[in-house]
Amino acid sequence: MSSHKSTARPFGSAFSSPAKKHLGQNFLHDRSVIDRIVQAVNPKPGDRLVEIGPGQGALTFPLLDRHGQLTVIEFDRDLVGPLIEMAKQRGQLDVIHRDVLQVDFTALAASSDADSDPGAGTTNARIRLVGNLPYNLSSPILFHALEHAAAITDMVFMLQKEVVDRMAAGPGSKVYGRLSVMLQAYCTVHPLFIVPPGAFHPVPKVDSAVVRLVPRPATEIGVADRTVFANVVRDAFGQRRKTLRNALSRICDTATMEAAGISPQARAEQIPVADFVRLANSLTERPA
Ligand code: SAM
Repeated sequence: MSSHKSTARPFGSAFSSPAKKHLGQNFLHDRSVIDRIVQAVNPKPGDRLVEIGPGQGALTFPLLDRHGQLTVIEFDRDLVGPLIEMAKQRGQLDVIHRDVLQVDFTALAASSDADSDPGAGTTNARIRLVGNLPYNLSSPILFHALEHAAAITDMVFMLQKEVVDRMAAGPGSKVYGRLSVMLQAYCTVHPLFIVPPGAFHPVPKVDSAVVRLVPRPATEIGVADRTVFANVVRDAFGQRRKTLRNALSRICDTATMEAAGISPQARAEQIPVADFVRLANSLTERPA
């Protein structure tokens, strides 16, 4: 996001610091968009909601009013005090003042489970993530969440529309790439709706979109080794105009590709997610 000229503070004087561009602060103020996101989250009793980047509380307070309990992760020290102050009387707001990339979602899910039922163990502990993400960090946050996918029930995120298009794209699309394959291997991707720039202060230059990601059950994923898979996908799309024979020459020979049913003459942008999984697994299973 960009264009941080406005200093409007739609959520009142409790938040006195101006929007910080380096933290991707574009605050949502459009009530109908806020309502649609809360509706998309649709919290159910017992859900453990975790919001990334609560900012001035555009989503935080409506979610808290509806659900009564919420954990938020905010990096900007100036926002933490006002968030805590404004949450009083509304419900239980747990604020984690930290870089979200340093937060272990699996441990967070386990701890919230132990809080609610200390004798219950932690095996099925899961959280639901929500957030209007800082757009400069959206890919790192998505990849971080994927590492903890087993601890996450679903994610409802607002991102740049262009990023959501890439996440949801299929083979043959111009925007099908590393993000599409990595996301779709581990999650189902459901674009929900587009949000125009005027819904935010400061006004960004690009459209945004809300998307729901639902991690696939472990039994459905099929990736034998996450690192091998990530390396295959990274190299395949590293130079997307190259044939796979050339793009993957560092990690895979043509015989292995052919044995996995993939043409070495094809380009990454033509290859379905399942074929990348099969190729990576054939490398994983190969004797050293
Ligand atoms: N949720 C608010 C809204 O919709 O108006 C704010 C969204 S704003 C696009 C992104 C938020 O993420 C800001 O509050 C920003 O301070 C926070 N943020 C930026 N980098 C962060 C990080 N590394 N960890 C946690 N929060 C971060």
